[in-house]
Amino acid sequence: MESCIFCAIAEGSIPSHSIYENETTMAFLDINPLSTGHTLIIPKYHSSKLNQLPISFATSLMNTIYTLTGPIEEAVGATATTIAFNNGSAAGQEVPHVHCHIIPRFEQDGGKSVHSIVENPSPPSADLSNIVLSIKNLI
Ligand code: AMP
Ligand code: ZN
Repeated sequence: MESCIFCAIAEGSIPSHSIYENETTMAFLDINPLSTGHTLIIPKYHSSKLNQLPISFATSLMNTIYTLTGPIEEAVGATATTIAFNNGSAAGQEVPHVHCHIIPRFEQDGGKSVHSIVENPSPPSADLSNIVLSIKNLI
């Protein structure tokens, strides 16, 4: 997709601090990092949401995330990482091309866990089994 900044990075028409590339994925440093080594991993396929990607690109993306997490942690001296997708605009996604954030984390970085990302959580549901059924019916 021509106007997509991450497609342009994948094609090489916009520069990036690339750290890894294979036939189906690419990884580069985030231009506005939350910590040193904050990396984005993208599929070389334009899709805004993870669940709209062809399965082969999704599995390949996971392989690249797996390959890079250790080296990123080691390179910046982190003992932990937050690995996350903002999957859709309601989840805060700003660039509409699937990307996984690998964010090196440090004991004193002042950040929190993924449990802190929703400010107004839904009330606890007593009806978990109905939710299970609704999801299972759609798989
Ligand atoms: P998100 O809110 O998940 O869509 O995050 C988009 C991320 O892309 C942000 O962390 C931006 O800093 C990052 N970003 C935007 N443009 C570029 C770029 N040209 N090169 C590297 N990272 C970028
Ligand atoms: Zn794109």
